[in-house]
Amino acid sequence: MKHSNIAIFIPHAGCRHKCSFCDQQTITAQKRLPGQGDVRCICEEAFREISDLSQTEIAFFGGSFTAIPHPYMLELLEAARPYAERCKGIRISTRPDAIDGSILHMLQTYSVRAIELGVQSLDDSVLQKNGRGHTAADVERACDMIRREGFELGLQIMPGLYGSTPETDRATAERVCEIHPDTVRIYPVVVLEGTELARLYKAGTYQPRPFEDMVNEVATMMRRFQEKDIRIIKVGLHASEFVGTQALGGYYHPAFRELCESRIFRKRIKDAVLLAAAGKWEEVYKIAVHPGCISKAIGQKQENLHYFYETFGTRLYIVPDRTVAPFEARIVKE
Ligand code: SF4
Repeated sequence: MKHSNIAIFIPHAGCRHKCSFCDQQTITAQKRLPGQGDVRCICEEAFREISDLSQTEIAFFGGSFTAIPHPYMLELLEAARPYAERCKGIRISTRPDAIDGSILHMLQTYSVRAIELGVQSLDDSVLQKNGRGHTAADVERACDMIRREGFELGLQIMPGLYGSTPETDRATAERVCEIHPDTVRIYPVVVLEGTELARLYKAGTYQPRPFEDMVNEVATMMRRFQEKDIRIIKVGLHASEFVGTQALGGYYHPAFRELCESRIFRKRIKDAVLLAAAGKWEEVYKIAVHPGCISKAIGQKQENLHYFYETFGTRLYIVPDRTVAPFEARIVKE
């Protein structure tokens, strides 16, 4: 059964800082904060459409949930509670420096079961340059507390921020592997009109790394998270006309995840040839992948097939094979 979220957006509620990259009104396409009636309405509508609620969560996204004024936070939780008791529970996203023992105990009484932290980077200088207002130590402390209290832990990271390098982003991903959250979301930076990052970008102070480099960097991070059995629940901002029209630069692509997944296969296929044929590139190779991975292995617009032909003069035939694990590739010997 597939997991689903009933998303309720609270754009910028509780945000003590204006982070350099963030404009939740554009990202969520929502200007005003929801009230209790909105929460009930959104849940009623979703509950009518979802047949099996066992894998469904009510998700408060787009702000710093645990930093919003308590009366409003309690209003939202009270409105969501009767629905949360009929599904998997409530998921929230918040800032690492807005977690403490009393908040966590209060969330437990309202069926909140998963907490996602906006981490972005675990490099203090990157955090500081992007106006985050917290440190890497705050993240570590919050993760410990969330885990200790038995919540599912999710971390959101943002490679490519102002002041970051491939090394700082790689180190962040490695530290995330060590923290070992249950889930991660990877949001490569998108420069949105009206943000501080847009100002730095227009002034030439912030220059994002090339798009192709970021696809490769994120593909490498995804491989590491897969190796560590950390569930990747999102890669790239969700495609919307609002984000599309407000994106000045950075890494907005409606199918960023698919681009990275095809890069993962590029590496897997190279590894398979190294292993099975000592790196000898024949004119033709038949490569078996899991049936659910055929399009990922071929790549968008057949980019992997073109890549191997242009780089090694090899024609690839990708064939389905249920015995091959997802994201693995095996040479078929005939
Ligand atoms: S990144 Fe998070 S904390 Fe920063 S402004 Fe956006 S919603 Fe608020």
